[in-house]
Amino acid sequence: MRKKSGQTAAPVIVWFRDDLRLADQASLAAAVATGQPVAPVFVLDDTGPCPLGGAARWWLHHSLASLARDLTAKGGALTMRRGSAVEIIPALARELGASAVFTGGLAAPAARATDRAIADCLAEGGTRFHRMRTTTLFAPDQIRTKAGGPFSVYTPFAQACLAGAPVHAALEAPTVLLPAPVLRSDRLEDWNLTPSHPNWAGGLRDTWTPGEAGAHRRLEHFLASIVASYATGRDLPGIDGTSMLSPHVRFGEISPAQVFHAVRARAVGEGGEKFIREILWREFSHHLLWHHPTMPEAPLRPAFAAMPWRDDPAALRAWQRGRTGIPIVDAGMRQLWRTGWMHNRVRMIVASFLVKHLLIDWRAGQAWFWDTLVDADLANNATSWQWIAGSGMDAAPFFRIFNPVLQGEKFDPDGAYVRRFVPELGMLDTKHVHAPWKAPAGLVPASVYPAPVVDLAGGRARALAAFAAARGRPVSFPS
Ligand code: FAD
Repeated sequence: MRKKSGQTAAPVIVWFRDDLRLADQASLAAAVATGQPVAPVFVLDDTGPCPLGGAARWWLHHSLASLARDLTAKGGALTMRRGSAVEIIPALARELGASAVFTGGLAAPAARATDRAIADCLAEGGTRFHRMRTTTLFAPDQIRTKAGGPFSVYTPFAQACLAGAPVHAALEAPTVLLPAPVLRSDRLEDWNLTPSHPNWAGGLRDTWTPGEAGAHRRLEHFLASIVASYATGRDLPGIDGTSMLSPHVRFGEISPAQVFHAVRARAVGEGGEKFIREILWREFSHHLLWHHPTMPEAPLRPAFAAMPWRDDPAALRAWQRGRTGIPIVDAGMRQLWRTGWMHNRVRMIVASFLVKHLLIDWRAGQAWFWDTLVDADLANNATSWQWIAGSGMDAAPFFRIFNPVLQGEKFDPDGAYVRRFVPELGMLDTKHVHAPWKAPAGLVPASVYPAPVVDLAGGRARALAAFAAARGRPVSFPS
């Protein structure tokens, strides 16, 4: 672009991160508003402490392909580079002579450290660094208690969100991009983000359409067919009762503000309000991670550091593979393996089973979810695991232990969910589908479906004893 003086205007860089969309994208909008040529960039940075897991990589591949197509349609070209963002972003800024870099700020501690380092490097070359809010409704440190501190309890946090500054109106996508000089870009295919040997992604492909258009179609479907009964349907894994927007929101293909306003405008009533509360759980998780950066590694309640977790690789493997012998747990773990997603109610059941009945450290579960979920999100995953383990802020008390059979009977009353993901139990009547060991002898041979890896009553007693031990109370351990 030529300035009036005849000089070429310096380009600006938009560094896309967890905000892979064109509409309501504050970094992109701010870059376009400068009137300068825009260079969109994505960096695959595996140098940090939490490189993306396998399922999220599959999603990222398709999401980037979609973003690149959408940018091309507007006249832009996405530059993709792999390596340390701390090195690549300043190097690209130098190469282009960019006057500014715009990006979406993140709550993850490694991302914050990266931003500080990049801001320093850019400042040396006279390039401005702008961190915008693109992934949450509110900045993670914006919502504060009356005393000015962070919240540790969800309900007052949610009330403060709803009582505070209104959610910003969603921004339109730019109509056209003034292109910056083309930079060398990696080829997405060369990043090998999708599996080949073996190709385990068939179930993911059948379930999802990553990208901004797919996200909006999913939202439309939710508003048209699901939200009205969301308040009750959200707890039933056997039906299409939730939005399944989580991976789209995780990768920022749709913004929380777009979702918020669409629901407020079209879904009046209990379902819409309940749904907004779930979106605010996501905000709460990001708020917690911002204020407690060690949350993915260490219990927030110090007493839990002394929990006598068991090292039981065979039981962990049975849990991961959906071979624990507890049908609702196995159905959930197989849904996760096949589709990269699991229903929230079942996430709670499988997590409780791992941490309490098997007495395996919540961090092992968190790591498995990180690798297998398409919506794997550092803040949501850590908050949720610590919530289940009882070690987090506003967490479920450790002594409240889900009985997975009763949970199955309550939330999957006709056994439809179990039968879908554990087809070898398809011949059982509803009375036995959640507890096949009670079925008539010989109906479910061990060669077809395993006996439970743990006696539920014994596992429960062992967990309670371990919890008491961690709190320094004298106990005798059941075997
Ligand atoms: P809906 O019920 O339609 O909710 C709408 C949106 O609200 C979701 O897309 C999500 O963005 C947000 N949301 C809903 N429930 C929660 C919640 N409890 N905490 C935070 N945000 C929420 N969610 C993730 O996005 N990534 C994770 O890595 C993740 N790990 C989890 C681990 C465990 C052990 C548990 C119990 C829950 C975890 N969750 C995680 C939260 C929740 O299970 C999923 O967000 C939800 O199941 C996604 O399905 P949905 O989009 O249909 O949700």
